[in-house]
Amino acid sequence: MVNGGVREREELNEMKWKLLGTALRLRAEHAPYGAWHQEGWQMRHHDLVIIGTGSGNTIVDDSFADLDVAIVEERKFGGTCANYGCIPSKMLAYTADVADTVDDAGRFNIDANLRAVHWAALRDRVFDRTDGIERAGRAGRVESDFITVYAGHAIFTGPGQLRIEVADGEVEITADQIVVAAGGRPVVPPVIAESGLPYETSDTVMRIDEPPRHLTVLGGGYIAAERWRTSSRRRVLLSP
Ligand SMILES: Cc1cc2nc3c(=O)[nH]c(=O)nc-3n(C[C@H](O)[C@H](O)[C@H](O)COP(=O)(O)OP(=O)(O)OC[C@H]3O[C@@H](n4cnc5c(N)ncnc54)[C@H](O)[C@@H]3O)c2cc1C
Repeated sequence: MVNGGVREREELNEMKWKLLGTALRLRAEHAPYGAWHQEGWQMRHHDLVIIGTGSGNTIVDDSFADLDVAIVEERKFGGTCANYGCIPSKMLAYTADVADTVDDAGRFNIDANLRAVHWAALRDRVFDRTDGIERAGRAGRVESDFITVYAGHAIFTGPGQLRIEVADGEVEITADQIVVAAGGRPVVPPVIAESGLPYETSDTVMRIDEPPRHLTVLGGGYIAAERWRTSSRRRVLLSP
């Protein structure tokens, strides 16, 4: 009995040391010195973490104020719709409609002449508006006293555990609940990426400096159709 107890204790101790060794190894693999140092070996724990600020940003309101909430966003606050999708795209499409209306006015016995569309000013009008909303949305969350905003790319390092690559290093956090609201992103097929031709994606094409003279839209979904709809307007995107 006594010998059995001693052996058990020895085995337990051995297991403890093994576990500690594994924990230290995992720590070394997953958190560089800078992150340990900053966090003082303590991972910050949150009740709820939301990755992505598109639909993800609509989850939290004041009824969550008794929780410790974190929001992680690697790009612009508000997600695709507000910054790269629906909103700027509709603003451009509407502008294209206005230009077309002037261009087609002769059909309605109105003598009008569309002389030019000023792309840079048009683009800046659209994105000054959306960027302003983005800044205000981010500030509202940053100033909240129950929300922590991490600006960076999050990856899972374990169950309920994330590493976030922020501007000045990495942060590790844990959470009871994590909502993945990371959305989708454009994929460039290798045949295009390796072709040597310049290309844009739906994320970048609306912010370009110079409108292209010719544009081929690859794809037939609603995003491609909308791009074509705006871009095919003679004097909005296609004429410099
Ligand atoms: C040109 C265009 C026009 C569109 N028009 C319409 C329309 O008219 N009507 C409509 O209903 N829909 C439209 N959409 C689609 C709409 O934008 C998307 O369906 C919607 O944005 C998806 O929301 P989401 O929250 O799932 O993802 P997103 O809005 O994409 O949000 C996900 C967020 O997560 C962030 N993120 C992703 N991974 C990580 C990570 N690992 N770490 C940190 N952050 C991360 C991303 O940066 C992003 O901000 C359009 C899209 C495009 C491109």
